[in-house]
Amino acid sequence: MKYVGAHVSASGGVQNAPLNAQAIGAKAFALFTKNQRQWRAKPLSTETIDSFHENLEQVGIASKFILPHDSYLINLGHPEAEGLEKSRAAFLDELLRCEQLGLSLLNFHPGATLRKIDEVQSLQRVADSINWSLEQSQGVTAVIENTAGQGSTLGYCFEHLAEIIDRVEDKSRVGVCLDTCHTFVAGYDLRSVSACDKTFAEFDRVVGFGYLRGMHLNDSKPELGARVDRHHSLGQGKLGWEVFRYIMQDQRFNDIPLILETIDDSLWAEEIASLYGFQN
Ligand SMILES: [Zn+2]
Ligand SMILES: [Zn+2]
Repeated sequence: MKYVGAHVSASGGVQNAPLNAQAIGAKAFALFTKNQRQWRAKPLSTETIDSFHENLEQVGIASKFILPHDSYLINLGHPEAEGLEKSRAAFLDELLRCEQLGLSLLNFHPGATLRKIDEVQSLQRVADSINWSLEQSQGVTAVIENTAGQGSTLGYCFEHLAEIIDRVEDKSRVGVCLDTCHTFVAGYDLRSVSACDKTFAEFDRVVGFGYLRGMHLNDSKPELGARVDRHHSLGQGKLGWEVFRYIMQDQRFNDIPLILETIDDSLWAEEIASLYGFQN
C-alpha cells in the first residue's frame, strides 16, 4: 500500500495536524512538533497529547505514517563545541517529544561543516550525536534526510548517508528519507524511468532500501546538479511527473510515509489524488 500525504500545519497545536491531513485526503503526514525556527518550546501538555491521539484515531492514520521534521536550527555535525552541544540537546528534546506523542520516526537534515572542519569529521559528529540521543530515548528512529548540498551541508550524496549509518550503534533505530528534489539537485537524475532505475539502484547499492523510512515528493525549480534547494509543485518543475509515477508504481516505496513539501498547499489535495491515480 502507498501512504501519501503532505507536511501539514500544526498551527494552534500538534493536535490540529491530523485534521489538516484528513482535509486533503492524506493517508500520511509530516509536521513540526514545535516552532521550527526556535530553539525552545514549552513541553507538550497531557491535554495536547490526548487530543492528538483522539484526532489521529478519528482520521484513521497510524503513527508509523507520520514523519515529524526537526528544527532547521539543529546542526548535529557542528564544528564548534557550543553549537554542537546546543544542537544535541535540541535534537534529544525533539526525539522525546516524538516519544511522548507515540511517534516512531524523526526526520532531520544531517548537518553542515560551516567550512570549519572537513566532511569526514563532521559526519563523525553527526553519528556521535545520533548515538548520544538514541541512548537517552526509546522507540523513535532517527531518519536522515538527503540534502540538496547547498552551502556546506552534508548528506548530498548517498555515501554520506551510508557513512553515518555505518557509525550508528543501534542500526534498528536509524533510517533515511529521500527527498526527490534534493536527490535531483544533488546530481542524481530522476527524469525518466531509466534514470530512476539507475539512481535508485545506486541508492540500494550504497545505502540499501532496507533503511528507507520515508520519501519527500517534491518537484524542483533548479536544474540537475544545481545544489540549490528550491521545491516546486509536482509536474511544474525540472523533474516532471515521471519520477512520481515511478514511485507510486514501485513496491519498494510501499508502507512508508510519502510526503509532499511542494510550495502551493492549495494544490495538495489535487497532487495527492494525482499520485494515487498512478496506481492502477
Ligand atoms: Zn527536510
Ligand atoms: Zn525534504
